[in-house]
Amino acid sequence: MIKGTIDVKTENIFPIIKKFLYSDHEIFLRELVSNAVDATQKLKSFASVGQFKDEMGDLTIKVEVDKKKKTITIRDRGIGMTQEEVEKYINQIAFSSAEEFVKKFKTKTEAESNAIIGHFGLGFYSSFMVSEKVELQTKTYKKGGSTKAVKWECDGSPDYTISESDKKDRGTEIVLHIDKENTEFLEEYRIRELLTKYCKFLPVPIQFGTKKEDEPIEGETDKDGNPKTKSVEKPWIINNPNPLWKNVPSETTDEEYKKFYQELYPMTFEEPLFNIHLNVDYPFNLTGILYFPKVKNSYELQKNKIQLYCNQVFVTDSVEGIVPDFLTLLHGVIDSPDIPLNVSRSFLQSDQNVKKISSHISKKVADKLEDLFKKDREIFEKKWDDIKIFIQYGMISDAKFYERAEKFVLLKNSEGKYFTLDEYSKKIEINQKDKDKRTIFIYATNTEEQFSYIEAATERGYDVLVMDGVLDAHFVNTLEQKLKDTSFARVDSNTIDKLIIKEEADVPSKLDDKQKEDLKTAFEKNIDSKKFEVVFEQMSESDSPVLITQNEFMRRMKEMSAVGGGGGMMMGMGDFPDHYSLIVNANHPVVAGLIEKDEESRNASIKHLYDLARLTKNLLKGKELNDFIKRSLQTI
Ligand code: ADP
Repeated sequence: MIKGTIDVKTENIFPIIKKFLYSDHEIFLRELVSNAVDATQKLKSFASVGQFKDEMGDLTIKVEVDKKKKTITIRDRGIGMTQEEVEKYINQIAFSSAEEFVKKFKTKTEAESNAIIGHFGLGFYSSFMVSEKVELQTKTYKKGGSTKAVKWECDGSPDYTISESDKKDRGTEIVLHIDKENTEFLEEYRIRELLTKYCKFLPVPIQFGTKKEDEPIEGETDKDGNPKTKSVEKPWIINNPNPLWKNVPSETTDEEYKKFYQELYPMTFEEPLFNIHLNVDYPFNLTGILYFPKVKNSYELQKNKIQLYCNQVFVTDSVEGIVPDFLTLLHGVIDSPDIPLNVSRSFLQSDQNVKKISSHISKKVADKLEDLFKKDREIFEKKWDDIKIFIQYGMISDAKFYERAEKFVLLKNSEGKYFTLDEYSKKIEINQKDKDKRTIFIYATNTEEQFSYIEAATERGYDVLVMDGVLDAHFVNTLEQKLKDTSFARVDSNTIDKLIIKEEADVPSKLDDKQKEDLKTAFEKNIDSKKFEVVFEQMSESDSPVLITQNEFMRRMKEMSAVGGGGGMMMGMGDFPDHYSLIVNANHPVVAGLIEKDEESRNASIKHLYDLARLTKNLLKGKELNDFIKRSLQTI
């Protein structure tokens, strides 16, 4: 037996390994199983080039927990190591890379070290985060010379021993003697959970325990002629070694994509809307599948559903900084060995390589959407209401994406027809230009509540867009900034004549200034004058006598602050009271008739007109609505 001391360069890192990265102790399993996978993959490639000529046998990696002995065992049938290799790889190389890793982390606070993405780099020595002693037995695939099996032991001090082992078969077996603080890892469910989290798509089968499966009994059938089955114990393979994202996109079917979505999110019953298969090998390596999820409500939108893998090893599901912000709403997987994983998120955001990856993903998503739009507009339109939130978010937050999406972003009008920006601008070009040659996009945010306004606008020959999505208020602002000479006006933001001011037509008024002044005072007395400002307009006789409008700018500020949720300069705007204009049509016979009335009946009529106007705008509520109904009943 050889006794030795690991060549400690700076200080004894074992106690530090145990203490730090406390919240990430679980990664030890990922590190050890990935090593086992690497050793197995190496054997396979040696076999493929003829450097290894024997039977490979069953290459399944086995993980076992013995609660009584307090051990976890990881066993592979990979290339194994000779004694010299153990001394070189385990004692020297692995140790010094762990040392370097620890050095990098030691100066960081817990919060900072948690911001490190993958915690890759600690490798084999991460086993000491949870063990008081580690035993490693290994037998190399090589033949002749000093190829006897060896046993390496270390109890978490820099001292180790190497002795002969009677291990018969090729490969490496690592036994962790779990310490008192980490007994949670002796629970079967916990190990299964970790294997499912980190190893679900590793490329070599990994077995943990057994599970019962029904198997047909040969030659035996039940009365319906179906084969009889018996329950048998079968090895429980944790992973799918050939995840779909490794497939060639053109050879993958829709069904397979849907099935894989279920595999990724077993608790989700909705099918995804569609997917984007990423497959890049230049200038960086990246594969993956992104899914557009079907969300019924905006509160179902969830970030951090995308899983990041490095060579099929799970790294994290918080991908901020790696994919563009708006795409963090998508689901799916990204697998890339080219994303630096032992750096902090803030570093990642400024990393040039990551920036390239991020913008490439964004471009791919735009290309795929454009493709779908061009190939099958009908399907694209059908999906539009569901996908628009993702596209609008992208266009609002990412100028490059805006440019790409400009071609296929759709607007829907009150007749349920869809238009691209270009198509729509052309459609309304002639009819909806104001006197300053600006094109006015008229929109409704609630087709029920704004029904009468929409009707008035369409009767006037205007087209009304439906902008009732969660992001539409923001999107309207974005479009206004990007589209040339274009403004947006909500259908109830002004009277129909002033929605698009064509030229200052001077419609004569049927009331003189004195009459208007008197009526204004009378109106103000009978309405909530804090909320409503009385304005006289000369409209046509067929327009409403009294109408409520809400200033576009003020309303938008208020809405933006509500959606933005306390974001920066808009803060506090949410508390602003709503303010409206009560437009009185000076040319309507009912209004002119008010002049003749005595004070009492004039007041009653004004109240009634005010209530009717509020009713069309869904502003008459509670007691006032009740009073209105009672009053109306009396007149029947
Ligand atoms: P890394 O895997 O990043 O190289 P590790 O500290 O995890 O670093 O492992 C160090 C080295 O030890 C590996 O590169 C490999 O040569 C050897 N090694 C570790 N585990 C095994 C194993 N199960 N089978 C064969 N060799 C192994």
